[in-house]
This record gives sequence, C-alpha cells and structure tokens, in this order.
Amino acid sequence: MSHFWSEAVRGLSPYVPGEQPRHPRLVKLNTNESPYGPSPQVLAAVAATDGDSLRRYPDPDASALRGCIATHYGLAPEQVFVGNGSDEVLAHAFLGLLKHPRPLAFPEISYSFYPVWCGLYGIEAVRVPLDAELGIDVGAFPEDCGGIILPNPNAPTGRLLELNEIERLLAAHGDCVVVVDEAYIDFGGRSSALLIARHPNLLVVQTLSKSRALAGLRVGFALGDAALIEGLVRVKDSFNSYPLDAIAQRAAIASFEDQAWFEDSCRRVVATRERVTAALESLGFAVLPSAANFVFARPPAGAAPALFKALREDGIIVRHFDRPRIREYLRISIGTDEEMDRLLSAVGAWCAAAPESGRDTR
Ligand code: PMP
Repeated sequence: MSHFWSEAVRGLSPYVPGEQPRHPRLVKLNTNESPYGPSPQVLAAVAATDGDSLRRYPDPDASALRGCIATHYGLAPEQVFVGNGSDEVLAHAFLGLLKHPRPLAFPEISYSFYPVWCGLYGIEAVRVPLDAELGIDVGAFPEDCGGIILPNPNAPTGRLLELNEIERLLAAHGDCVVVVDEAYIDFGGRSSALLIARHPNLLVVQTLSKSRALAGLRVGFALGDAALIEGLVRVKDSFNSYPLDAIAQRAAIASFEDQAWFEDSCRRVVATRERVTAALESLGFAVLPSAANFVFARPPAGAAPALFKALREDGIIVRHFDRPRIREYLRISIGTDEEMDRLLSAVGAWCAAAPESGRDTR
C-alpha cells in the first residue's frame, strides 16, 4: 500500500493469473495453453514482418482481421470487435455493456476475472448458484438483472450448455446484454454466434489463445449486433486505439487461413482429453464431462490439495482453486500425450501409495 495510490487502486482485488515458471522439464498443465503451437503459416506471417510495418502505427480498426473473422462466422465486419486478448474484450464489455443500475449476474463458479472487473468498474454482481452436478441452470438467473455473463463451456468446470439452453436464456432476458464467453468452445461445443441474427442482445466473445495456440500473441474478439460492437469501439477508442499491433493482426489472419491445422489440433486435444478422462476414472477420480481443453477432476477421498502438492514436487503443475464447492477438484489442462502419460503415472503412483480409504490429508 502506498499513499501515492488513488482510492480506486487501493480498493482493487486484482486477478491472479496461473503461474508461468520456465523450468524446461516442467509439465505445465495449469493455464489451458495449447500443447501443439500455432500453424506454421502463423510463424511465417510473423517472420515476414518488415521494418515499414513496425515503423508505422497499425490499422486502429484491424479492418483486414475483422473482415477475415466476419467471413469465418458468416457475419458483417461491423459485427466483429477485436482486442488484446479476450480479457481486454471482456473488460470493455463490462464497462460498455454490462454496467447498469441493476446488478450483473454470473454463475457462482465461473471465470474468476469477472468479479475483478466488477471491482474495477464498480459493478454490483449477483452470483447464480450452479446445480448439484456443477452445471449452469439457465432458469436460475434473476429476472431483474442488468446484464448476464457466462463462460460456455464453463471454466473451470468444463461443462457445456447446448445452444437451446443459451437460446432459452436469451429469450428470457431480451432486455439486457447476455455475454457468452466462448474461450473453450472449439473443443466440443457449437458457438452461439449462430444465434446473433435473432438476438440483438447477444455478445459472443472468443480468443485465439486456446484452440489457435496463440496465447502469447494476445488476440481476442467479440461477435454481435453492430450496435453492441459500436459500444465496445467507443470504449476502446477512449482507452487505447491501437490494441492490436501489426504483427498480431497479420498473424491472426494467417491462423484463420489454416483451417486444417486448427481442426487437427483441436481433434488431437479432444482425443487426449477422452483418454485422460477414462484413465482418471479408472483410478477412482470423479471427472466432470468436459467440452474444453482441460478436465475438472475430483481425486478419491477429498485429497485435491495433497495431490496438487505431490504433483508439483514431481514437476507437474495443475490448478487448484481453494473455493467453496470446488476445493475438492483439480483443473488439469490437456497437454501432449507424452505429458499426460507423465501426469497419469504420477497420479497412479500417488494413488497406489495412499491408504485404501478415508484419506484426508488436508
Ligand atoms: N475467458 C475465460 C473463461 C478464460 O479462461 C480465459 C483465459 N484465462 C479468458 C477468457 C482470457 O483469455 P485471453 O485473454 O488469453 O484471450
């Protein structure tokens, strides 16, 4: 705490990102990054960057990239917004579309950045309880909220809502903006982008960080009615008019141009996810059905914190959230088959060493 801080800064509770240690032997399964890396075409686009494109400011509207994303989703460029990672896009949505006199509603367990933006922008929040299986109950959102945001699939549970459920939510809340945060949709769900034509209150947010293996490039985007997008542009142009640098704009386009690479890496992640789910289940874990590039798994006999620690000592990093309802679970990102084999053998050894029943090492 410093007396130089503004009152606003003193009141913040910042988001804590997953750690990024650089140890070479580490198996890093804690931030849902892609194990396979981006398309070679992306790397070629980065390498082709010339001095002129860096000397000048980039296109503030990222027109070529927005056009490319619009074509990909069958939308108009005016229905596409891009930002520096979907975190920035979401932050602009909080300020520009979700801050209203009535509170913003989101699932009690969802992306832990949401309450941080509420704190930053002074937005009152209501948390909507999940059902007994940690699924989102779209009927549980309060009638009188000023906005709704939910990840689909949800994070960190990985559970998916089908489009008919999203549509039910949109129909019941036509008077406020509903943001569907689809950071993980490419690993097992259908995008709500299909519903945009019928629902002017729907904003779909996606990222190139996960399924396109570009977390380091920082590119995210939003799709929605042109009026919603204009609201985001107003925030952007009051904050930073050049959020995407010249390299990011070109590389992101190259990523969309290599559909085969994208589909193949998603397919591989999904296949590994299914194999890991079955293997964990056979070790006595309860694994939630995941449509994401991670699994949310409960080790036998409430041992999540102890297993988290043991894996860490083995050089395997996963994520544990010490929060009500989910502190018995670990979130494990899907890595390469080799990495997951190392995880499974460490987990197997740990289970074999644990006493048969009633283990509770908390
Ligand atoms: N939404 C969800 C649900 C996430 O898990 C993440 C990743 N932490 C993001 C958005 C943000 O991702 P990025 O800023 O890399 O696009």
